[in-house]
Amino acid sequence: MIFRILQVAFTMPSSCSAYNCFNTSAQGYALVRYPHDETLKRKWIAAVGRGKNWSPGCQRLCEVSSNVQYAL
Ligand SMILES: [Zn+2]
Repeated sequence: MIFRILQVAFTMPSSCSAYNCFNTSAQGYALVRYPHDETLKRKWIAAVGRGKNWSPGCQRLCEVSSNVQYAL
């Protein structure tokens, strides 16, 4: 199971981290990093719908999902 998760992580390094969003850079979407600003980053985390304790780590967000965050 852990191996499977790692395999997925390695084969899809540039997919969107938003809940229920499956856009990838391979599909032509621009993927952006989470902001360094803590307040802004928390807003994004709240908006991706993965819970308050979820941390994006080195994951990214696609342009569609990040536009949703900017609209907040
Ligand atoms: Zn997305």
